[in-house]
Amino acid sequence: MESLKEKKVLVSGASIAGLSTAYWMDKLGYKVTVVEIANEPRTAGGAIDIEGIASDAAKRMGIFKQLESNRLNLEMIEFKNADDITEGSILLKNEGAELPDDHIEIERDKFVHILFDKLKNDVEFIFGGSITALNETKDNILVTFKDGKQSEFDLLFGCDGIHSAVRRIRFGHETEYTHFLKAYFSITIVSKLLVKQKTMQMYGVPDKAIMLNAYNNKTDIVFCFNSEKEIPYDYRDEERQRKIILEQFEGLNWRTSELLKEVQRSKTFYFDKFCQIKMPSWTKGRVALVGDAAYCASPAAGMGASLAINGATALADALQKHNGNFELAFQDYNKKLRPFIEEVQATAELNVRENFIPRTEEAIRKRNTQAKLF
Ligand SMILES: Cc1cc2nc3c(=O)[nH]c(=O)nc-3n(C[C@H](O)[C@H](O)[C@H](O)COP(=O)(O)OP(=O)(O)OC[C@H]3O[C@@H](n4cnc5c(N)ncnc54)[C@H](O)[C@@H]3O)c2cc1C
Repeated sequence: MESLKEKKVLVSGASIAGLSTAYWMDKLGYKVTVVEIANEPRTAGGAIDIEGIASDAAKRMGIFKQLESNRLNLEMIEFKNADDITEGSILLKNEGAELPDDHIEIERDKFVHILFDKLKNDVEFIFGGSITALNETKDNILVTFKDGKQSEFDLLFGCDGIHSAVRRIRFGHETEYTHFLKAYFSITIVSKLLVKQKTMQMYGVPDKAIMLNAYNNKTDIVFCFNSEKEIPYDYRDEERQRKIILEQFEGLNWRTSELLKEVQRSKTFYFDKFCQIKMPSWTKGRVALVGDAAYCASPAAGMGASLAINGATALADALQKHNGNFELAFQDYNKKLRPFIEEVQATAELNVRENFIPRTEEAIRKRNTQAKLF
């Protein structure tokens, strides 16, 4: 391979896509810098799934065993009615049963820390930073950071999530690529068990759903609701987002008022619309996007982390195959990964439209009672 040692790459974003991309670029021999807007690796977030080819990628990255030893083992899903009566349940795993080795559920921050610890001595991290301008020439790309500093890189990877700054600067405004799926969600994590460990509970009324997921003495509280129209809010304005959840769910039965109180006083809160990013190309010149920035499928896919890991791995494989020739590698990346992304996005879209948040009382009862009672 052409020597990549003197080649410098910049990764924007230190989450799942960013850390996976940084891992592979370091492995290929590039000199890697990661710039992350937060002041440290962002640790919020609930459980994420790593499945299919992403678990193979995790094996190749040498982190699979660590992921496995931190895996969560959801055992039971219970469907509740307004009086907290279980109408149906799904037993996912009997005590002692063997777990699959191609699907791991793990806390998002555990994953981030495992990968960050693996990289922190080999890769330069700039926390509290962000890219504000790019100037690409035939030979390199000049990056301006928010503190005014400038540096040249050979390649830039935009792994900065659904509201990617790299995408906005290099590819155009977010609205060109975002497809709203007519639903919103919030995730709050509390450090106590609101239901039995390893259990998920669901409650819903038409167009609104609440889910509790308990593991490791914590509970994820998830609120989801359908909305034909987009609700105006600033994605950095957390108070406004908490208020949206309060307005949507206030007055509902089951444990809603208790859960809303938890949301209002919790430290960790994540809110977004269900949406997908669809782009005709994930690369432009010396810039490639990876993960949610390029092809977010929405949480309804349950595949955000897997797509980010697969994307980073596909990009690295293409660069290796083409000996560091980024133009050929980027073509491969766009071509080979696309069918898989399109399939996952189509399934997620259907999921949101038809199953995720049932629209009628009848659909809720049918879902709840079709599940057997255990
Ligand atoms: C704090 C947090 C909590 C989450 N919780 C959940 C969850 O509970 N369930 C779920 O399904 N998904 C959650 N997600 C989304 C999930 O991580 C992604 O859908 C998926 O894993 C794909 O990862 P990604 O690396 O592409 O994007 P993300 O995980 O969104 O990561 C993007 C990274 O880029 C950083 N960034 C953003 N803007 C800039 C910028 N201008 N410059 C530099 N860095 C920037 C962000 O701080 C973040 O670290 C969460 C994401 C975050 C950031």
